[in-house]
Amino acid sequence: GKGAAMVTAVAYRLATQHAERQRILNTLRLSRAQLLDVKERVRKEMVRGLSKQTHEQASVKMLPTYVRSTPDGTEHGDFLALDLGGSSFRVLLVQVRSGKRHKVDMHQKIYSIPQEIMQGTGEELFNHIVHCISDFLEYMGMKGASLPLGFTFSFPCHQNRLDQGILLKWTKGFKATGCEGEDVVMLLKDAVRRKQDFDLNFVAMVNDTVGTMISCGYEDPKCEVGLIVGTGTNVCYMEDMKNIELVEGDDGHMCVNMEWGAFGDSGELDDFCTQFDHMVDASSNYPGKQRYEKMISGMYLGEIVRNVLIDFTAKGLLFRGKLSERLKTRGIFETKFLSQIERDHLAMRQVRSILQHLGLTSSTCDDSVLVKEVCTVVARRAAQLCGAGLAAVVEKIRENRNLNHLSVTVGVDGTLYKMHPHFSSVVQETLQDLAPQCQVTFHKSEDGSGKGAALITAVACRIQNGGQK
Ligand code: BGC
Ligand code: MG
Repeated sequence: GKGAAMVTAVAYRLATQHAERQRILNTLRLSRAQLLDVKERVRKEMVRGLSKQTHEQASVKMLPTYVRSTPDGTEHGDFLALDLGGSSFRVLLVQVRSGKRHKVDMHQKIYSIPQEIMQGTGEELFNHIVHCISDFLEYMGMKGASLPLGFTFSFPCHQNRLDQGILLKWTKGFKATGCEGEDVVMLLKDAVRRKQDFDLNFVAMVNDTVGTMISCGYEDPKCEVGLIVGTGTNVCYMEDMKNIELVEGDDGHMCVNMEWGAFGDSGELDDFCTQFDHMVDASSNYPGKQRYEKMISGMYLGEIVRNVLIDFTAKGLLFRGKLSERLKTRGIFETKFLSQIERDHLAMRQVRSILQHLGLTSSTCDDSVLVKEVCTVVARRAAQLCGAGLAAVVEKIRENRNLNHLSVTVGVDGTLYKMHPHFSSVVQETLQDLAPQCQVTFHKSEDGSGKGAALITAVACRIQNGGQK
């Protein structure tokens, strides 16, 4: 009768809606073949970045870091460390003790960098940084001290020496004028000179990936890769000197800062990008740049999720088709919400309360289930892409050494990797699947960007002062 026909109609509508949602979500799901493809393409770009002939055009820049030797435990002294480029800006005093039970003590203070300084002039930015260092020295009762400084500067820099770094471009939330193309160490030193408050006697410039690798290497000598998945994402690893064509000499190894976030900037990821990725890219600070980073890191995942939810709502597949003002707001979905929503033991009731907290008065239980599924799919894709890239890196190290089997440790830092309930296990699964000849251990770094930068500075000072390599 009529009733039965209506029930069938409703069931039919629900089924088509379900199919439509899955069709959209499927565009965000990657097959194994696609992941293998990503691994191959990353591998190709690595070679292009390392070779003199193709370096200019390569999207993955493979930057030499001039970090060649790792700490041997004999370094000692007090060092300042600066950490700029992640979620917070910090100044640290790092005390490195030598001897058998080598030990590192740290004191730090966190400062904020207001949005208008991040996006103001370079001079304002560096004045602010120097002001913070000065405040820190006073706070520590060390005014007038002149210490060596390890500067963790988490942006792509061209280096000819350890104590130099020409900023190639800003990434993430930074946009200060007059810095790109300049030596950031000089910009810092100029600001110190203007302030006339303290001296810096040596400045080593370090990417956060490098600091992370070195600080883990202090405890685990097999650590030859550094990975960051936080606000941004990037990898460094120990490459054979003979493959680094931008640097003279064929002996030994040097750490290469891949700047893998820029993978895809010449179209290498176009086959995998969805309409949501295009929207996130178009409304970002740097359209067309850092395409791989925009599919992986904390600054962007929430935005991908938000764009999917908007699309679902517009199609009447979510929130009863009502698009709230909140959902139209850029940045409402912070990474920490992604991590919260995906906690396993979390009941749907709690998911709903998180959504309510975000101003998304998701009325039905189905809405919560769907939002959670979107978060899962987006985070899983990010972790798989990251794992595919890492597979290319460890396979390259293995082949460099002509080994059938490589055992290596990756030092990791970054809030997304550390806080998300599933991210790390998906990275590891993917890596194991795509690089079965490598046995990879992950070592979460305890403050690599502070400790690692100080250790690198310590090694540089030891060598400079005539110590052995
Ligand atoms: C930067 C890298 C950095 C990474 C993680 C990227 O945006 O280009 O230099 O290592 O973020 O902080
Ligand atoms: Mg950091």
